[in-house]
Amino acid sequence: LGGRAAVTARTRTTCGYCGVGCSLEVLTRDGEVAAVLPDRNGPVNRGHACVKGRFAHGFLRSPDRLTRPLLRRDGRLEEVTWAEALDRVARGLRAAVAGGGPGAVAAISSARATNEENYLLQKLMRVVLGTNNIDNCSRLCHSPSAAGLTASLGLPGGTDAFEDVERADCLLLAGANPAEAHPVAGARLLRQVLERGTRLVVADPRTVGLARHADVHLRPRPGTNVALFHGLAHVLLTEGMIDEEFLRRRAAGLPELAVLLDGYPPERVAALTGVPAADLVAAARLYGRAERPAIVYGLGVTEHLHGTDGVRALANLAILRGAVGTGRGFGINPLRGQNNVQGASDMGALPDTLPGYGRVTDPAARRRAGAVWGAPVPERPGMRIPEMFAAARAGTLRALWIMGENVCATDPDAGRVAEALDACPLVICQELFPSETARRADVVLPVTSWLEKDGTFVNFDRRFQRVRPALDPPGEAMSDFAVIHAVAAALGADLGCPTPAAALAECARVAPLFAGLSHERLDAEGAVPWPCPDPAAPGEARLYRERFATPDGLARLAAPPYLPPGETPDDRYPLVMVTGRRWAHYNSGTMTRRTGNLLLDPGDRLDLHPADAARHGLADGAPVVVESRHGRATLLARLTDEVPPGQVFCAFHFPGSGVNTLTSDHTDTVTSCPEYKVTAVRLARGG
Ligand code: SF4
Repeated sequence: LGGRAAVTARTRTTCGYCGVGCSLEVLTRDGEVAAVLPDRNGPVNRGHACVKGRFAHGFLRSPDRLTRPLLRRDGRLEEVTWAEALDRVARGLRAAVAGGGPGAVAAISSARATNEENYLLQKLMRVVLGTNNIDNCSRLCHSPSAAGLTASLGLPGGTDAFEDVERADCLLLAGANPAEAHPVAGARLLRQVLERGTRLVVADPRTVGLARHADVHLRPRPGTNVALFHGLAHVLLTEGMIDEEFLRRRAAGLPELAVLLDGYPPERVAALTGVPAADLVAAARLYGRAERPAIVYGLGVTEHLHGTDGVRALANLAILRGAVGTGRGFGINPLRGQNNVQGASDMGALPDTLPGYGRVTDPAARRRAGAVWGAPVPERPGMRIPEMFAAARAGTLRALWIMGENVCATDPDAGRVAEALDACPLVICQELFPSETARRADVVLPVTSWLEKDGTFVNFDRRFQRVRPALDPPGEAMSDFAVIHAVAAALGADLGCPTPAAALAECARVAPLFAGLSHERLDAEGAVPWPCPDPAAPGEARLYRERFATPDGLARLAAPPYLPPGETPDDRYPLVMVTGRRWAHYNSGTMTRRTGNLLLDPGDRLDLHPADAARHGLADGAPVVVESRHGRATLLARLTDEVPPGQVFCAFHFPGSGVNTLTSDHTDTVTSCPEYKVTAVRLARGG
């Protein structure tokens, strides 16, 4: 900033990249970003920000930013007026409903959009089009967290405020790489370990950043989490490291779990997972003997065929130790990946729940929402995202509305996703750029980014925080909020709640969980966690002090048996591929690839162990062809011992590399979350 014209405005907002929810101050000069600074008073980041939040904003002025609506004519996307685009959308939606009923239309909402936008889209789908066919991309990441935590404890969120991790004397970090995926959270966890002496157990096949500082690093074979967590629970139980009084008063299911755990002694778990029995016992003793144990986990737990079972088996550990709902530890907390993946689900952008998690099958929940909306709420649960694609391929889905998701790049078995979009008569896409998905759409509507929006996000520890526009939208781009209203108007409907503040106020009337929340309050207080049923009381940062949110108030120990993943290596596909994130980029890279972050990380690479590289005649940096049962991709090899022999790792930030053409269509048996973490592959030298 030095020596140049003065900054003309400062805007306090919340980062639009990962789920940590860092508070940022955006400095603008004559309508352009001059700098993005971390807010010293930010409740989660306390003056820190990472390379994404601070520097990845160059995409705003990218030359290929969409600034006018596009309509497909004669196979090509052409610029049109908003009136023409909205007319096509409205006619297409009406025709789809007329031809196939309300079930012939569906929407994919967005974890990148604000709460108010998610609220409005689900309201339009339910009230105007008459269907529960709405889902969001938490389906692809933390839907097993929502299902597993709800079944075990009662609510679909983490149990404690992130600052409580500072009281932990032992941290179990499972299936997460916060140093890269959630850098500000990762830095706080690292400081715990290095400066405050918190003991650290890392459960991850890879040597992720924090694993280098672990007291014990458990490296299970991908897909064996349930066996690993049962093995830890077995040691807790057999060595008496459980809180018997807590279990007597506040938990159910111990006898059934004890019978199951008999079958998971360390030696058997070692055979199933590849983790040495001595390491398993050492890890269990660290967690089991801690006064204030903490569990933090990520997508390495959820993105599996048995992801929900994995979450429940992990929650068992916290329940056995009485480390949840007692204020002693840091309970069990998922690291949410995207900025508003918690909020998108909170707002009811799900096929089976309304805002605040009332079930669509519950007449009382439908009545409450219907009374506020002045219209009946459909009763039948809608389609999940994979079901939408299957219905499109089968010809029964006639219109698919995608708000801010690049499904052709991020969803598994990407070739089949493209087939689904091509088969669907009307695909509507709200986007910043001509993404892989937008290029297959029939109507593309240009929208604003997180730096141009008004609303709120919910971060990974359930805090509502304000999002404020620092810049004007480019060209004719509109906020997703305004676009949804415009589509409703084109359909002859009025959704009410004309502003984001009014939308959150209305949501507070629909959902008791958020009844005490408003923009006004957030402007005054900064951040407020849910549950927040009372405008005069603080939200509950720490859950379950009195009782769990289950029907009888008891936590539920679960006893799912270990079952193998959808794919296991064999002679044809002898290696296991795991996918994940790297530090400089965000998801399909639509934003970060259009910034200077590209210099920090110019493309997806395949991490493989030097022994596997030698066997395939591959040098560091050499092109390598990766083949699975589903597709083929070419990447550059990166030789590293961060991955064990027999496994390879790559990110998914560069759609051109085709990583998600490789991943399988196996999904979690409970929630349909894809099994991104286990794909059997083979390698060959590239040309
Ligand atoms: Fe944004 Fe996450 Fe980085 Fe914080 S840690 S600045 S929320 S990307």
